[in-house]
Amino acid sequence: MNTAAPPPDLFDAEHQALQAARAAYGAGVEAGVQSCHQALGDLLVAYERLLRETRRLVRRSDRAELEMNQLNQRLQELAAELEHRATHDPLTGVFNRAAIIESVNQQLALRDLSLIVLDIDFFKRINDSFGHPVGDTVLLGVVECLKKLVPAGAQIGRVGGEEFTVMLPHMDVGASEQVAQTLRRSIESHAFGLPDGSQVTASFGLSWMPRGNCFDDAYGLADEALYAAKRGGRNQVVCAPLPVDLV
Ligand code: GH3
Ligand code: MG
Ligand code: MG
Repeated sequence: MNTAAPPPDLFDAEHQALQAARAAYGAGVEAGVQSCHQALGDLLVAYERLLRETRRLVRRSDRAELEMNQLNQRLQELAAELEHRATHDPLTGVFNRAAIIESVNQQLALRDLSLIVLDIDFFKRINDSFGHPVGDTVLLGVVECLKKLVPAGAQIGRVGGEEFTVMLPHMDVGASEQVAQTLRRSIESHAFGLPDGSQVTASFGLSWMPRGNCFDDAYGLADEALYAAKRGGRNQVVCAPLPVDLV
């Protein structure tokens, strides 16, 4: 058996005042002045309390709404930050490998594209000679060169330690090769400020892919071309043969 007392009604006093007023009103002229006066007085007290309570609740609800809006905004900021961290390289700020793969695959479902893969020459030597932090500044300098010169619509990504990609949607091989040469020259002439005054160069592989292929096809060809550029003496651009048997 449940012996717990029912919870008190929040508006008990108001109900009683209303009831008394209703009774006085129902009695009409028969109700004495005294009881009418009493009922009106109780009603006034109850009404004023209701007003005070309502104001308090409105203030509380305004505060809760404000807090909720602030939390919502913070949540959106955190979601955007999480999304950015999941898709960007923390050192250079360009797209990370996973994001580039997704983006290239998305683009290739819609249109032809060129993919440049570039790799810094003798980067290990820079790290070994001057230390990892100097190596990091070289990575940042290379990205600076790329950002300055890539055409609108291009996407820069870091696919490995010192290996980057530049995706050029809807661009033919000739124009893409010119872009790659411009980037190569920009790195070659950039002031990296290495302690021994030496220059930094990078080797480039370039592939062109028709719509309907995937990242692995584009990357595989560009990577082969990159290694041809390394074997050919570095600091050069090599274009992969057109994929005639694909699609
Ligand atoms: P190659 O001309 O044939 O490309 O030679 P390489 O020395 O550039 O190539 P290798 O692959 O031997 O060296 C890559 C080096 O990149 C090895 C690794 O320690 C370094 N590396 C990878 N990620 C980072 C990074 O975030 N910062 C720095 N400073 N070094 C990195
Ligand atoms: Mg290298
Ligand atoms: Mg490498």
